[in-house]
Amino acid sequence: MESEENLVKTCIEAGAYKAFVISTGKIPFDESFRSYCEANSCGNYGKNYACPPNVGGSKELIKKAKSYKKALVFQTVTQIEDSFDFEGMKEAALKHSNIADTINKDIKKQSDNYLQLTAGKCSVCEVCALIENKPCKFPDKAISSLEAYCMNVSILAELCHMKYINGKNTVTYFGAFLFS
Ligand code: SF4
Repeated sequence: MESEENLVKTCIEAGAYKAFVISTGKIPFDESFRSYCEANSCGNYGKNYACPPNVGGSKELIKKAKSYKKALVFQTVTQIEDSFDFEGMKEAALKHSNIADTINKDIKKQSDNYLQLTAGKCSVCEVCALIENKPCKFPDKAISSLEAYCMNVSILAELCHMKYINGKNTVTYFGAFLFS
């Protein structure tokens, strides 16, 4: 894997607002976060293979995350018109996903042993195969969220010298690549 400096540079060049490499030992994991997924305010609980409960138990996922030594954490920040600008929010999510894809292409050239995490559900397929009661179509490409892995992203942001919220009428998304 490239130097931490170069990994951060890769994220910024891809369009991320900020990026930071942190030791996974410092990531704040909190098993109680699973209850937020269970509350299903996003509507994806039990509807996506990369989301709880299908993605796995909290202990199991925390153990898996900790099996990697470091995490390249990045954030994207997008201006929207106001808190009712749903089109702008959709565009912000698409922008985040495109930036994550660009970073992923670079990481993939350096290692095949890493774990990519994103914001929200896996959106590799337009409709997750779970909805159709079929097996995951791309198990090697499926991406889970930082929250599904029980990461406290607001504290993680502080540890990575980032703001969790970046001002009025902005949308901030986080992503990460865990590697050894
Ligand atoms: S790759 Fe497709 S089928 Fe698999 S978790 Fe993602 S959206 Fe669902």
